[in-house]
Amino acid sequence: MQQLVILGATGSIGQSTLKVAAEHPDRFAVLALTAHRSVHAMLQLCLRFQPRYAVMSEHAAARELQQQLQAAGSQTEVLAGEQALCDVAAHPEADMVMAAIVGAAGLLPTLAAVKAAKTVLLANKEALVMAGALFMQQVQQSGARLLPIDSEHNAIFQCLPASLQQAVCRHQLQTDSLQQQRISKIILTASGGPFLQTPLSDFAHITPAQAVAHPNWDMGQKISVDSATMMNKGLELIEAHWLFHCPVEQIEVVIHPQSVIHSMVQYQDGSVIAQLGQPDMCTPIAYAMAYPERISTQVAPLDFSTLSALSFSSAERSRFPNLYLAIDACRYGQAATTALNAANEVAVSAFLAGQLRFDQIALVNAAVLEQFAVATATELEAILELDQQARMVAEHFIQGPLA
Ligand code: NAD
Ligand code: MG
Repeated sequence: MQQLVILGATGSIGQSTLKVAAEHPDRFAVLALTAHRSVHAMLQLCLRFQPRYAVMSEHAAARELQQQLQAAGSQTEVLAGEQALCDVAAHPEADMVMAAIVGAAGLLPTLAAVKAAKTVLLANKEALVMAGALFMQQVQQSGARLLPIDSEHNAIFQCLPASLQQAVCRHQLQTDSLQQQRISKIILTASGGPFLQTPLSDFAHITPAQAVAHPNWDMGQKISVDSATMMNKGLELIEAHWLFHCPVEQIEVVIHPQSVIHSMVQYQDGSVIAQLGQPDMCTPIAYAMAYPERISTQVAPLDFSTLSALSFSSAERSRFPNLYLAIDACRYGQAATTALNAANEVAVSAFLAGQLRFDQIALVNAAVLEQFAVATATELEAILELDQQARMVAEHFIQGPLA
């Protein structure tokens, strides 16, 4: 029986994880659930899954949850604050930690799980973009097992030979590990989001409601906006760079609007191995939860009799400048990606709050990236400080030149 901790349990990935766990009660038990401040959603989850711990990162929300759980006669213990997130992630009885908090807020609890040598299921790509070098070093040293949840990275992982999968999980990778397995390229597929065909002249008028309506995937707000700007693919390219120890030059982004192929690995003999499936995160989640075994999910199989043509194209810089900023940042180095991630979080939340136009997200990101292109930060303290500085520069830029 695997004891499961879900960081970000009320979110889209958190809910899908609980769905998979609920289908396999013989394999998974819920030890702890965490959320930011959504008391009502957390109350429902606690009553249904009866975790030993429920953590709210906001203290006021924790007090409210505690009262409501007590009134309902629940045994769940309520904890509050960031340290409590880290504590449950590193709990001695936890076997598996789903890292599904959105944004930089997920870094410390996810690192706590890594340091405690848990099996870490990584959905929180921002943690890797923010601190990839440090993060992977900790995976290598701690004995943790890291499994990718992001559908593209999970697909790539599935397309690798078993020996390389083992090395990826433990980050026992050398510079020539892909070369030794005769892998020539990693191909990340991207849907292109809702604005693939929208005239560029309309980009200034795109609303948050339009941007979060993804054509294929049902996801949280932040990643939905990132998908619309294709910053999501940029973050994923950086994520792939760290997870698979792969130079940027060997990662190709291909637009594939149907989201049937979730990503591919190209070998030197001319073979390309792909993973296909429905756009439902329960598939990669179940794969990672049971790895190296496989378990069933409720996801419908692909129906090839109704599948229409699969199409592919490349991402234009004028339409998706954020993707190219991320590629630049990955070439500059770790500190540049920390700054870009911070800027993007600030810009996306300003856009969602109606304070920034859709097409201005890339302007904020470019301005911050330019300022931090040659910065350095290797220790955790320095990374956290750089993240804060980049956020301040982004805020100033939004309130100054762009206001
Ligand atoms: P979401 O917005 O639906 O959920 C986010 C979760 O994080 C919620 O439980 C929320 O309470 C919690 N949270 C938010 N801010 C927090 C804070 N400051 N402190 C503590 N907890 C906080 O997001 P999501 O779509 O589930 O995505 C989660 C992560 O998984 C993101 O990093 C995203 O990029 C990644 N991801 C998501 C999908 C998807 O299909 N949704 C796919 C691939 C990767
Ligand atoms: Mg993805």
